[in-house]
Amino acid sequence: MTGKLFIVATPIGNLNDITYRAIETLKTVELVLAEDTRHSKKLFTHFEISTPLKAFHEHNEREKTDSIISELNSGVSIALISDAGTPLISDPGYFLVSHAKKEGIEVVPIPGPSAIITALSVSGLASNSFSFFGFLPSKQTARIKYLQNRTDLNETIIFYESPKRILATLNDMLKVFGSERKVCLAKELTKSFETIRTDKIPSLIEYLTTDPAHQKGEFVILISSADKIDLVDAENQLAKILPILCAEMGASKASKLAAKITGIDKKHCYNRAIEL
Ligand code: SAM
Repeated sequence: MTGKLFIVATPIGNLNDITYRAIETLKTVELVLAEDTRHSKKLFTHFEISTPLKAFHEHNEREKTDSIISELNSGVSIALISDAGTPLISDPGYFLVSHAKKEGIEVVPIPGPSAIITALSVSGLASNSFSFFGFLPSKQTARIKYLQNRTDLNETIIFYESPKRILATLNDMLKVFGSERKVCLAKELTKSFETIRTDKIPSLIEYLTTDPAHQKGEFVILISSADKIDLVDAENQLAKILPILCAEMGASKASKLAAKITGIDKKHCYNRAIEL
């Protein structure tokens, strides 16, 4: 029988965020592939996992994939983990997973934390539609161009950023997006110094510069959608105008007009109108 390849999410800070299924899987597979085996050893010690660990990182992924596929084909069950969060999300594994799937090997997700989704869930920014772009280019000219190509996106934009560049990136964002765009800085999620601030860019720059310690740690940056709808304000406006419009015209026409005024989508306005 062919072995299965398990893609196992691990905590992004707080070890208590590991799932029962993740521990059980890591204990029962025959081999665990890890980005940094010394780092993962700490997780293994904490949860008393004694499965052998093998290094699997961006520098050896391509070279190791063939032998891993052979092991899976010979019946060995293998789990892939990264240093933190969900493998393949700005982490190694894409090459291995795509090859395994082409070979007909079963790839099983063991879901758990990921910094993007964790940050989005508490940012207060639109969560119905978003784009994630991983890490921004490290060189300023490339970074500014990259940001400029994304100014018109009508959805929340999410990036990962290193503490080394967080201030420079926020300054570039101010140049590209202006001072009115709302941004969320989600720092050290699930850890002791967890900080989540959603504000206009100049206030976030002020936060980062008032204390150099504020620039330390791991960051997710979320930029609000270009259409800048504040959903709470828009819903309040809709609640006021919809009964007035519906008293003058049919639900269909009233909801079209309400959608134009509030920026909320037509279907949602119509559903509200027919509830009146
Ligand atoms: N695979 C991971 C995931 O699912 O989130 C991401 C790995 S990526 C190499 C590491 C980056 O994720 C960090 O530089 C930071 O931008 C973000 N990140 C990871 N853990 C975080 C945390 N606890 N708080 C904020 N950002 C975090």
